[in-house]
Amino acid sequence: MGNREMVECLVSEGLLKSGRIIRAFKETDRGIFCPGRMAYEDAAMPIKGGQTISAPHMVAIMMELLQPRKTDKVLEIGGGSGYSAAILGRLSRKVFSIEIDPELYKIARSNLKKSGVKNVSVILGDGSKGLPEAAPFDKVVFACAVPEIPRKTLNQLKDPGILMAPVGEGIQDLAIARKNKGKLAYESHGGVVFVPLRKPSSLS
Ligand code: SAH
Repeated sequence: MGNREMVECLVSEGLLKSGRIIRAFKETDRGIFCPGRMAYEDAAMPIKGGQTISAPHMVAIMMELLQPRKTDKVLEIGGGSGYSAAILGRLSRKVFSIEIDPELYKIARSNLKKSGVKNVSVILGDGSKGLPEAAPFDKVVFACAVPEIPRKTLNQLKDPGILMAPVGEGIQDLAIARKNKGKLAYESHGGVVFVPLRKPSSLS
């Protein structure tokens, strides 16, 4: 199985629906981000230090809900391998992806370069407070689980804007906050399992 077959599977399962999202998945070879024979399996895989690259179906669900647009400025918290950042990059104008782990930060940067994505800035640091210096964002997406949506990141969202995060402990809820006309509306999109957000002290 190769990247094309992996994407066709996601399409036939009804998980990938939008033409431009399907194209972004086809252009992004998961084999660059997830080395080994399992790269095109629909499974989360270990990358480094107990972290994982999300399963393709999870990234597909998130992108279809988020619907990034070519004019969007996007913030991702949890760059990991850089895979979801690469897809976001192909769908948006500009992506900032924060990664707390120095080794993964380097890996994400190099993978994104190999993948030919030029509009993603990977930033080494703690993303729990968002990225005020580049705010506001059209979309904010957490690729790690949070106990609750950090208020500071909601404040960095444009109006209209969408924030997505796995919220809770154990099995988390894929939550969406939509900001529109000064109001926030929350949606719940079911159970997911992401690695939890780490505190800077957990790395030393
Ligand atoms: N989107 C990634 C998967 C991310 S896994 C991919 O496609 O490969 C979650 C990532 O969040 C891990 O790499 C982890 O190191 C990172 N992370 C955890 N806590 C963080 C924090 N406080 N700030 C930034 N990144 C964090």
